[in-house]
Amino acid sequence: MTMNHEAALVVFSGGQDSTTCLFWAKKHFKRVVALTFSYGQKHVKEVELARAIAEKAGVEWHCMDVPLIGTLGHNSLTDSTMKMDEEKPEGHCPNTFVPGRNLFFISIAAVFARERGIFHLVTGVSQTDYSGYPDCRDAFIKSLNVTLNLGMDEQFVIHTPLMWIDKCQTWALADELGVLELVRHDTMTCYNGVQGDGCGHCPACKLRNEGLRKYLAQKGATEQI
Ligand code: ZN
Repeated sequence: MTMNHEAALVVFSGGQDSTTCLFWAKKHFKRVVALTFSYGQKHVKEVELARAIAEKAGVEWHCMDVPLIGTLGHNSLTDSTMKMDEEKPEGHCPNTFVPGRNLFFISIAAVFARERGIFHLVTGVSQTDYSGYPDCRDAFIKSLNVTLNLGMDEQFVIHTPLMWIDKCQTWALADELGVLELVRHDTMTCYNGVQGDGCGHCPACKLRNEGLRKYLAQKGATEQI
């Protein structure tokens, strides 16, 4: 199969990070395809928002139904009877961690991309603000990249534009890409399913809003959140 250097596939959840990555990819690649996973997350709205953002961005969008990933391991993002950890517990992952999520998502994305002659994969994982999720770390992504190449005898490149930047810098990047407002209002990062600035008190909102507050202050914006 011939390699397409001009196309990239973005693992796209419709949250702040992957939306920023979607526009990053649009800047760096001629053709961008977004792939969203429906894995039994409590907030199905996530998938609808992802579709709407992809449409606004003018990129080809696909959604893949993989409920197995949400039920395989016990976690509070797919199990509504579980109380979500608000803070990172000492010594282990918070229960918002979906075991294997990035492993499966990126592996499926690689096969999906390969079918379309695409070998550049983009994911919004970040080691800087990784919330204790081991599958957001750089060593894991590099290792998976090698594994995918060995497993399919291909030359995939996994791009992680947010790996070494924090939430404040991620907002700066969105602004630089001209999509600060879109990312702020159209995405959903909140664990309680509230679009935009979110519920304000879940761990995802705290991280996101702290970053935004810091970025707006740096920018000298008078707006409050
Ligand atoms: Zn929230």
